[in-house]
Amino acid sequence: TSFGTVPSREVIHILENAGYEAVFVGGAVRDHLLGKTATDIDIATSAEPKEVKAVFPTTVDIGTAHGTILVLMNGEPIEVTTYRTEGTYTDHRRPDEVHFVKSLQEDLRRRDFTINALAMTKDGELIDLFGGKADMAERIIRAVGNAADRFNEDALRMFRAIRFTAVLGFDIEEQTLKAIRDNATQIRYISVERLKAEMDKLFAGDYVVKAFHNIQNTGLNLHLPLFPTDTEKLNRTVPFESAVEGWACFMIVGNFSPSDVARAYKLSNVERTFLSTVKDAYVNRMDYQFTLDDYYNYDLATLITAEKLIRSIHANGEAISFTEIKKMKQSLPIQSIADLSVDGKKLMEWTSQKGGRWIGEWIGKIEQAVLHGTCKNDPNDIKEWFLYEFNREK
Ligand code: ATP
Ligand code: MG
Repeated sequence: TSFGTVPSREVIHILENAGYEAVFVGGAVRDHLLGKTATDIDIATSAEPKEVKAVFPTTVDIGTAHGTILVLMNGEPIEVTTYRTEGTYTDHRRPDEVHFVKSLQEDLRRRDFTINALAMTKDGELIDLFGGKADMAERIIRAVGNAADRFNEDALRMFRAIRFTAVLGFDIEEQTLKAIRDNATQIRYISVERLKAEMDKLFAGDYVVKAFHNIQNTGLNLHLPLFPTDTEKLNRTVPFESAVEGWACFMIVGNFSPSDVARAYKLSNVERTFLSTVKDAYVNRMDYQFTLDDYYNYDLATLITAEKLIRSIHANGEAISFTEIKKMKQSLPIQSIADLSVDGKKLMEWTSQKGGRWIGEWIGKIEQAVLHGTCKNDPNDIKEWFLYEFNREK
């Protein structure tokens, strides 16, 4: 079986012709063996960055110091990284320096987990030096080498292990799990930005509940910027469409405010605003069902996320299908104030009065009357209703 895209195989072919070794590595190989389509394709090579640059006409430096060159092949960007080992880690985050090496084995040894330490030739031949294939068959996440040492080097790996349980549904191997427990405090060395990026990926997984429990069982929760104390509440069965839905769930399970979550994990303003609206919609939905005003005030994504949270968390209320929500929303007499068949000018004409604050107030009343079916969204109907109410209030 061939692997990778035509341009990526061409990159390997050209490097080999120039006398270097080159193979596919990392997540793409792992995902291929799992029958998933790989997202980003990474190539590892014995060629040093300057040698890679010399072989291809179009390259972009994206991390020469760390050995990574972006090669543009028939318009496709492909990351090519020189075989390397990492020096000492004094800050538990990043190697103090990297050394380029000539052997693939040395490069694979510095990778985090056995399932991520697989390589594949351009002809689809698997190179498995650390038992990654067997661990994949057993659905196990196992550190390459001594787990505690590996987590001491880079504490983020502990969180990556958890993230892979969320995405793959695998279990963490016993020694690896113990090492996470023993070294959990070190997660404090990792920046919020990197934790956020891992959490975003975690939320895309089908096994978020499992990952949440793992975070709690290992004690990592105690050293994260913020984490729900009672993950037992989470009973999720509906996949999240986006990471921000996951963050909304995180907020509700933890009983946090939108700003708590946003501050702790440096969420973007867009994400923070979404959390606020979803929380409001969720609270309304918790009362019983969405009201007509809820259907009108919240956009479809907010309503669906709120409903998803109801289903994900042990909570009262009977589930409504997403199609039902969509139908309810579409069947509203108006979708927004812009849909009203009258405007302020009409009100001035009908009453022979000058403009002023009263117009906005009355447009609001008309909006409510139309939404709740008191009158149809028809200029004649509205005129009749409006003039009656208007004169009555005078
Ligand atoms: P994803 O599907 O999220 O891209 P991935 O495994 O490809 O998952 P990347 O961050 O793209 O993750 O990293 C590519 C490869 O680099 C990994 O498969 C792994 O071999 C290695 N790697 C990444 N991060 C680390 C780390 N912190 N420590 C050791 N090796 C790592
Ligand atoms: Mg990747």
